[in-house]
Amino acid sequence: MAQIRDLYEILGVGRDASNDDIKKAYRRLAREFHPDVNADPAAEERFKEITAAYEILSDAHRRQQYDLYGSGRGIGEFPFGDVADIFEAFFGAGTFGRRRTATRRTRTHNGEDVFAEARLAFRESVFGVRREIELERLEPCDRCVGMGAEPGTSPQRCRTCGGTGQVQDVRRSIFGTVMTAHPCPTCEGTGEEIVTACERCDGRGRIPVDTTVPVDIPAGVSNGLDLRVPGAGHAGRVGGAPGDLYVSLRVDEDPVFERRGTDLFASLDVPMVQAALGAEVEIDTLDGTERVDVDPGTPSGTTHRLRGKGVPNLGGRGRGDLFLTLQVTTPKPGSRQERELLERLAELRGEPAGKRASVRADLRRRG
Ligand SMILES: [Zn+2]
Ligand SMILES: [Zn+2]
Repeated sequence: MAQIRDLYEILGVGRDASNDDIKKAYRRLAREFHPDVNADPAAEERFKEITAAYEILSDAHRRQQYDLYGSGRGIGEFPFGDVADIFEAFFGAGTFGRRRTATRRTRTHNGEDVFAEARLAFRESVFGVRREIELERLEPCDRCVGMGAEPGTSPQRCRTCGGTGQVQDVRRSIFGTVMTAHPCPTCEGTGEEIVTACERCDGRGRIPVDTTVPVDIPAGVSNGLDLRVPGAGHAGRVGGAPGDLYVSLRVDEDPVFERRGTDLFASLDVPMVQAALGAEVEIDTLDGTERVDVDPGTPSGTTHRLRGKGVPNLGGRGRGDLFLTLQVTTPKPGSRQERELLERLAELRGEPAGKRASVRADLRRRG
């Protein structure tokens, strides 16, 4: 499922939340989802999201930027620093005990992210659309069920590190002998080595598969936006969590409507006589037929605003407006009769007329 979560929504606070509210919400959620207290694998992802949201909303400047431009955008589009740093700055180091530092690594590795592109027609970007995204991604090998070892065999204790997952490095310095431990290069710190590699995946545990991922693209997206589809990336190794899929959106321009923010702009040509006498003009908007009232004596350049006929707010409520600029079109008399009628009109209005009339006119300030 495509997901663009609002930062306020992530913290469960309103847009008008005070700094204090945001702090409290973060403290409560972080204690609930910190990976050291919550064993659910989804908790870590959630914790990162919460912390990233907090980092942006607790900083007055970044919060303002987000309110102005970022509303409805996903976290992925906001760079954030090391989650552990923020957490420590907030709660103090060692809040939950750093019990993970000394643990041996498992063979589990999370999958990498996959990047794809989707091209949308303008209307699809406005109203949303479901797309089947074609991509190649690594999926667990079905022969060895992702373990990498040929069926009937199993991974053995690593011969390089003896199964500890670590190798020692001894250096002499002015302080004496310094020993440091590094993850074993042979088994990548897992302590296990695959002796008989699976025939299908060559011991990698994953194989490339062509697949399609259905993605619901929400209404109101714009060109260049990246949609994150959690868990739709490469499979993890040996039961690790899958990566995410990022879909970069390319939106075609519309031949009629020009978009600025959530508003749309277009020109409407109105023949001179209709502009002079007034008319009810039927037009096609993105939502269907609408009527525009042209008042008698409407000057060229008049703007009409059709409320709610623009682009929906991404991830929010409401829609922008459609602005029409009326352009009065001036006829060139096609027949003697037409010319005579226009000359007669000028005469009635006491305006100089005739072919190439010589007139004096006053300038006025623009606007
Ligand atoms: Zn395999
Ligand atoms: Zn090893």
